[in-house]
Amino acid sequence: MADDIRIYRSPVIPDGFLHGFPERTGGVSTGPRASLNLGMRWGDDPETVDRNRRILAAHVGYDPDQLQVTKHVHGTEVWRVGEPLPDPPEFDGLVCDHPGPVLGAFAADCIPMVFADPVARVCGACHAGWRGTVGGVAANVVARMVELGARPGDIRVALGPSIGPCCFEVGPEVVAEFRAAFGELPGLVVAGPRKDHLDLRVATLAVLARAGVDAAHVDAAPPCTRCEPARFFSYRRDGKAGGVHMGYIGLAPTAAASAG
Ligand SMILES: [Zn+2]
Repeated sequence: MADDIRIYRSPVIPDGFLHGFPERTGGVSTGPRASLNLGMRWGDDPETVDRNRRILAAHVGYDPDQLQVTKHVHGTEVWRVGEPLPDPPEFDGLVCDHPGPVLGAFAADCIPMVFADPVARVCGACHAGWRGTVGGVAANVVARMVELGARPGDIRVALGPSIGPCCFEVGPEVVAEFRAAFGELPGLVVAGPRKDHLDLRVATLAVLARAGVDAAHVDAAPPCTRCEPARFFSYRRDGKAGGVHMGYIGLAPTAAASAG
């Protein structure tokens, strides 16, 4: 089973970081959560999810006890690893400036994102659905990385598998929120067969551009989760009976610190 692990990785994230967006295969969850469900919140057995997280860590080669996760609430708060965690730990973004911790960002149609500054050696991750996108959680990750010495011009960002404009049908009230936040951005709203569709990637590129991230450093063309049931969980497709993905990123130990 562990050999069925498949990980979508982005070429924009440079050497010096371990990162990826695992697909749904290779885990031990069953039914509509088959099989690599990495989220606890929608009712899967916590022990099963823990086993899945350990299978992934063993496959990638990080210490499963170093996985850092927070409770996502469609907000814009960002936690720096090492800061005291409130209870509940409600943060949609995380940042870190040292090797060891591996940051996790959960999503099932929302966009899991990972951030890397190879010069300052700082990383980040976040979860952005439509509310987090309008709120600019990705810009808050950049801001907190800058506190740790990163420069926006050096930051690389990979968007993970998430719902594409092909499938993200929304009501007029959501379109209005995006028009208010982003104006008439080309490609933001596209006509669908029934209602308008939104392109969260276009909006995310705008959020990152405002934060000073170079568009050439952003991979904003991940696969669509709803279109590919064999590879991905999708909330729009399966509801809360389905599973949850987790994008991850961490700093690899430096060559000086480790032979590997
Ligand atoms: Zn689609």
